[in-house]
Amino acid sequence: MTSAGRFAPSPSGELHVGNLRTAILAWLFARSTGRRFLMRVEDLDRARAGAEAQQLRDLAAIGVSWDGGVVRQTDRGPLYAETIARLEAAGRTYPCFCTRREIQEAPSAPHAPQGAYPGTCRNLSAAERNAKGADRPAAIRLRADVTEATVHDVLHGSYAGVVDDFVLRRNDGVTAYNLAVVVDDAAQGIDQVVRGDDLLPSTPRQAYLSGLLNMPVPEYAHVPLVVNADGARLAKRDGAVTLTDLAQAGRPAEEVRDTLLASLGLPSGPLGHALAAFRPAMLPREPWVWPGA
Ligand SMILES: [Zn+2]
Repeated sequence: MTSAGRFAPSPSGELHVGNLRTAILAWLFARSTGRRFLMRVEDLDRARAGAEAQQLRDLAAIGVSWDGGVVRQTDRGPLYAETIARLEAAGRTYPCFCTRREIQEAPSAPHAPQGAYPGTCRNLSAAERNAKGADRPAAIRLRADVTEATVHDVLHGSYAGVVDDFVLRRNDGVTAYNLAVVVDDAAQGIDQVVRGDDLLPSTPRQAYLSGLLNMPVPEYAHVPLVVNADGARLAKRDGAVTLTDLAQAGRPAEEVRDTLLASLGLPSGPLGHALAAFRPAMLPREPWVWPGA
């Protein structure tokens, strides 16, 4: 399979300039390394009617093109189920009956890192499972045999982070992001993952799961986010931050694209121009403050 990069938006609303900037970077990383560039819609959760079509139009409007059709996670349920069944058969999973609140209030296991699942349900007996299962549906967790893993990131270098018994399938039956992303990237031949650096902390979990499934670990590049004037991650409440809003404020898509390219130290114009000047080593490492419309 040819190597590929990807952009994987969640259709929960309109893309904002932070999402668009990450999409441009993912495109530049893939195209500058001779990779195909694939589009995957991560619609397992919080999908909003019409949002996908709008997002794809906005990406096209700033010049982000992709190869082949759009892959949707909601079409891939059998593949996720099959993968979880494989892990189950290998003794790598267990049911978890904890509520979010119980996890927050549980004393953490000795030496367990902050935010890690405390292991409450790891060693329940069959009788305990039956009793708890009568009250509420179970999530499926991975039985991890490490507490930490290290990944290599093009921008962050060597990054060590927590691996705990993370959720593979939520108790509402929805496949968890960490499982879906690993399965999809491997199935699509994606060997380069470029995304916002808010996802860096979950990357060691994903790389560890890739290894358990004998799937290759992709090359990672976690890029800085776009923030508002207060330094908080950009959001819809920060005013005109989508192409629709910006067009209404008199700023067409080409102009927004050029503003985003300038924030990366890249020349304006079609993305092909920026491609010639693109050098990952020269990318800004700090969040970029959106100057407003
Ligand atoms: Zn539990």
